[in-house]
Order: sequence, then C-alpha cells, then structure tokens
Amino acid sequence: MPGFDFTTEQIERYSRHILLKEVGVEGQRRLLNSSALVVGAGGLGSPIIQYLAAAGVGRIGIADGDVVELSNLQRQIVHGTADVGRSKAVSAAEFVGGLNPDCRVDIIAERLTAANTREAVAQYDVVLDGSDNFPTRFLVADACWLEGVPLVSGAVLRFEGQLLTVLPGGASPCYRCYVPEPPPPGVIPSCREAGILGAVVGVIGTLQAVEALNLLLGFEVSLADRLLIYEALDCTFTKAKRGRDPECALCGPDRTITDLVEYEVSCETDAEGAAEWLSE
Ligand SMILES: [Zn+2]
Repeated sequence: MPGFDFTTEQIERYSRHILLKEVGVEGQRRLLNSSALVVGAGGLGSPIIQYLAAAGVGRIGIADGDVVELSNLQRQIVHGTADVGRSKAVSAAEFVGGLNPDCRVDIIAERLTAANTREAVAQYDVVLDGSDNFPTRFLVADACWLEGVPLVSGAVLRFEGQLLTVLPGGASPCYRCYVPEPPPPGVIPSCREAGILGAVVGVIGTLQAVEALNLLLGFEVSLADRLLIYEALDCTFTKAKRGRDPECALCGPDRTITDLVEYEVSCETDAEGAAEWLSE
C-alpha cells in the first residue's frame, strides 16, 4: 500500500492528489512538509489560503493587520458576516483550522514593516503576495529577493488581474525589474475608489495558489519570466515576456538596494490597483 506513513484519513483526504502520477504519495508528503506565507487575508488571500489549506500545505503563515469590514465580503470569501470587526488573520486561521487539521497556521496579525518582513519571509518555502498596498508589495518583493525565497505576486483592479512569479538567485527577473519604484500617491486608484468585480480576485488568487503548489511540488514554473494578464470582460489570458533590467536597483550589477525600503502608506497608494500600474 503506498503512503505507509499516512493515516487512513490522509490517504482519503488527499486521494485525488495521490492519483496524479506527477504528485503521488511523495508529492503529497512534500506538501505536508512545506510552508507558505500568505501576505494579505483579503480578496486574493482568500482563495490562496483556502486552496493551500485544502492541499495540505503543512504550515501556512497568514499576515494581515486589518480587521474584516462589511464591504470586504463581496470578494474576501474566507471571511463570513459574523467575522466583521475581527482580525482578518485570526478569521482566516479559523477557516484553515476548520478545513484541515494537517495545517499549522502562523498568525501574523500586524502590518509588515521594514523591521519584521525579512525575518518573516525567511521562514517559508514560498511567499504569496495578495497585499492591497504598494509599500507592503515592495517590502515583500525586496525581502523575498534578499532572503532567496520564491514570490508569487498577484494584483487586481476592476475587471483585470495580473500575476507574476519571481524565483530567487537570478533565475528570473525580480519584481523591481518590472516595477522599479512604487507609483506616486494618487496615480493608481484603489479598489475602494475604482471598484473590483469580486470573482476576478478569485481567478487571480486561485492561479497564485496553483503557481505556489507547482513550486512546492518541484514542477517547472511557467510564469518566472512572464507576466500573466487576465481580462475578465472578454475572458482573455495574455502572457507578456519579462526580461531582467540590467540597471535594476535590486538585482542589477550596480544594485543600490541592499536592505528593505519603507515607503509611506497612504490611502492613495492603497491598491489592489497594482494591476493598473503594471499594465502601463
Ligand atoms: Zn531586478
């Protein structure tokens, strides 16, 4: 019987993974021994957390300093009506606990800063960024690069979503090769200002989860040198080639960024709106 060290319940729970010859018992064991940090337990974070937990990723970090608001529930499906006013990280952790007892959850119910982000990301095999503001996006992207941790980054606005993966050590362009600096405050509208079709975050967050599972299973990741663009209104997926920027301040030969840069958080740079910026 394959999977001799799995319990009967685990064999049944993960049977549809184990049936895949590319995953099998060994792959499932890998997932159970792996770890992922999810930054943001919001619209993108919800399907990420749900699918990573369902897949049996053994340790899931959930970083979010916000509380659940009623206006979140249109897209942040890991939370329920009774969670309004509660910590998003705690609410999401309870969801994981109810779904899969194999998952240990690290609750980080505070905003990531220059003081704690490198230490946080260094403890995980992969980081999934579903944050809603540029200062956090850059902290997480820089920290992943500096600590050598793969990053799967998603962004959404209105009817559009984008996804990219950054592999450490120069195997792919870094996030700053593509977005060198955060946009000036006010350039990018936030979802609060511009709106978002709720299910669009489900598409992108789910794709982030797939990409992370591919990484954790040791599969080749296809988005390491591509930007995936999803347009919901005509249901198109486009891949745009990404290259290294030889003058990149983070990964170039003359790099100037050697530690985290703390950008000021302002409501104007709040943005699941990174997608809009990226597409320009
Ligand atoms: Zn770079």
